[in-house]
Amino acid sequence: MTTIDVQGVLQEVHEAVSPLIGSGSVAEYIPRLAAVSPEHFGMAVTTIDGERFSVGDAATEFSIQSISKVFALALVISADGDEIWRRVGREPSGAAFDSLAQLERTRGIPRNPFVNAGALVVTDQLLSLSDGGSPVLDLLRAESGNDDLAVDALTAASELAHGDRSHATAFLLRSFGNLAGDVDSVIDAYVQQCSIAISCGDLATAGLFLARDGIRADGTRLLTDSQAKRVNAVMLTSGFYDAAGEFAYRVGLPGKSGVGGGILAIVPDVGAICVWGPGLDASGNSLIGVAALDELTTRTGWSIF
Ligand code: GLU
Repeated sequence: MTTIDVQGVLQEVHEAVSPLIGSGSVAEYIPRLAAVSPEHFGMAVTTIDGERFSVGDAATEFSIQSISKVFALALVISADGDEIWRRVGREPSGAAFDSLAQLERTRGIPRNPFVNAGALVVTDQLLSLSDGGSPVLDLLRAESGNDDLAVDALTAASELAHGDRSHATAFLLRSFGNLAGDVDSVIDAYVQQCSIAISCGDLATAGLFLARDGIRADGTRLLTDSQAKRVNAVMLTSGFYDAAGEFAYRVGLPGKSGVGGGILAIVPDVGAICVWGPGLDASGNSLIGVAALDELTTRTGWSIF
């Protein structure tokens, strides 16, 4: 239970950032995302005891994109602990999220699980651990309590049709012996998970297990305390493309952004926040989203520092 008037603060934040609505540029490289109006803004907070607060377009679904990588990583760590760290590093990349040059330099070991190469390895591991199905979608449904969550087929098709870099990345991984599955199956699973449509309200609720030291909505454990700390740590250092330092400086929370304009941020032992504004800044993070989180954490004191 928080003593802060969260709804009041969200309204103040909405007002403070409203001059920025429409700023930034929507992601161009996935045509379906390029068609989204940049005029949206939504923000939601769910506290660890399940209270939900929201403003703006918090009930409108958007494309989860890279935020799904957090859920995939949590599932893999939950299933086989530290195994994934034999195949993926956990350092900020300092390079573009889809860099092939960096993967070549690191001899096929992606710098972290949130650059695309790292996420493909996590997806590969997840495929080898699960017997088909859509584990990331299932986790999001269970944790948000929304069984209607689904993959947006048009987004997936749009990304697949423009997937040359993802394929190049997967083949390069395979050339270094760091991809066990069939390239097309891994890419397909990865693109499907990135194309899940979800609202700020549902995503904030789905991320709560990271604020609750790994405890799921039904009270069971997905991660140990230590594993939850580690996922949060990787979010803090690598969750914002090449601007994780800037995000830590301005917001001071672990989080993950996606090219759909969403950001999930975790306030350990307090709750989870999701913000969405499709216009991206030069680093690929939602321009208004970072500003809104900056305002929110300043007003609430919600920071890990
Ligand atoms: N599906 C996107 C890709 O692979 C994810 C990009 C992102 O949100 O960072 O390019």
